[in-house]
Amino acid sequence: MWFDTDKCFIAGEWVDAIAGQVLELENPSDGSVICKIARGEVTDIDRAVKAARAALHGDWGKMSAVERGRILTKMGILVLERVDELAKMEAQDVGKPLTQARADAVALARYMEFYGGACDKVHGETIPYLDGYTVYTMREPHGVTGHIVPWNYPMQIIGRSVGAALAMGNACVLKPAEEACLTALAFVDIAREAGLPAGALNVVPGLGSEAGAALTAHPDVNHLSFTGSVGVGTLVQAAAANNIVPVTLELGGKSPQIVFDDADLDAALPFLVNAGVQNAGQTCSASSRILMQAGIYDKLLAMMVAKYEALKVGPAEADLNVGPLISGRQKDIVTGFLSQVEGNAKVVARGSIVSDAPANGHYVAPALIAGVEASHALAQDEIFGPVQVVIRFETEEEAIAIANGTDYGLVAGIWTRDGARQMRLAKAIRSGQVFINNYGAGGGVELPFGGMGKSGHGREKGFEALYGFSVVKTVAAFHG
Ligand code: NAD
Repeated sequence: MWFDTDKCFIAGEWVDAIAGQVLELENPSDGSVICKIARGEVTDIDRAVKAARAALHGDWGKMSAVERGRILTKMGILVLERVDELAKMEAQDVGKPLTQARADAVALARYMEFYGGACDKVHGETIPYLDGYTVYTMREPHGVTGHIVPWNYPMQIIGRSVGAALAMGNACVLKPAEEACLTALAFVDIAREAGLPAGALNVVPGLGSEAGAALTAHPDVNHLSFTGSVGVGTLVQAAAANNIVPVTLELGGKSPQIVFDDADLDAALPFLVNAGVQNAGQTCSASSRILMQAGIYDKLLAMMVAKYEALKVGPAEADLNVGPLISGRQKDIVTGFLSQVEGNAKVVARGSIVSDAPANGHYVAPALIAGVEASHALAQDEIFGPVQVVIRFETEEEAIAIANGTDYGLVAGIWTRDGARQMRLAKAIRSGQVFINNYGAGGGVELPFGGMGKSGHGREKGFEALYGFSVVKTVAAFHG
């Protein structure tokens, strides 16, 4: 590693956590300790927020939009130059197969390119008003923005959240997850190298209950962006309410893919399976429910079973289909769900863990479960592991009711050749993104993303995020 792993990055410098405490970072592929990281807490967060505020009053706050754009674009170029190093780091830290980790590093570069190019393209409006007035709006940064990210896609989530916030001229304090934070640390060092002024981006690693809670409660933070679980999201929203600051919540999901009798099954198959097992199912937008219409049910289930049985699970560096889960705790949660398979529900296929997978890695063979009642916990709760449930339906109305029948509403996929049905379902499904005859659209840095219901609120990604990370000021001048 070319940076200090056991430090915070504040005001452009690597510094020890004030209390001098550290945490150990585990490699989920074999259970070994990768390195130590800083255990920041309330005083470190306070120092980082003060550094961010100072940056807003200093070089960063005075910088033109075009200059900000150049720096963000340079950050993207430097990320691309280090793509292999970053991919190795993420694979080791998160346990994701190298190819997936590399795709995440490329996506981080894409976010910086996209938001770098967008900095000078967000404009205000002039508003026709009463005689004698000139009225216009300006989009201003919120000020200091707090970013709390999870361990499952650190690079992608930092890119979409910090990238958009910096583009609008905010100064950021980032609290990465205690389970995986190496690429967050690498990224700030890249930002420094690209010429980002001191204090514009600060990182305080540490525990959620310490550094995370301190960031959400800090009275001088003007906006919070949280990606993580519903439980913690509730706490973050309460903390934001206390200080009356806006908050973006990107939470979990139980996203369906609905396959109708007229669908192209061969085209659908890889999306159905990959969207469930990518990143070992630890993806907010994982497609964990597959709804199959009665006419193709037997055929499509057999196709999915064959694909599942070919899935290989092993260490990140082996670059197989599926890596380990992030932790022993996550493995216990997933196996706990698997022990709830009961009644008509049956595990109809499993992938296999390679024989030389290290004994201390957190491996779970992917499981496909059929015959699940739509109301059962397996079909309602986010499992966050390589587990998909299959539900049979007869009619379009029934499919919509099942698809909308959870607390979540993040993503949905519809597979049908019937154009009118595509349009009806795209309207009827309650979710932030709907994909027709595909799922995920290859990630799509440009595409607004976010939830409905308990999947959260606010949008990140695309141009839409720039509105979320800024605030409108209306100026009304009376000149007679
Ligand atoms: P988590 O909520 O436990 O942790 C997420 C982050 O919050 C971590 O950085 C953690 O340290 C911090 N945190 C924990 N307690 C905190 C507190 N009291 N105050 C402030 N911060 C605190 O989630 P997780 O288990 O790391 O991630 C998995 C969850 O994230 C899943 O539910 C998944 O669906 C969701 N997720 C959502 C998206 C999305 O874009 N919608 C993307 C990725 C993950």
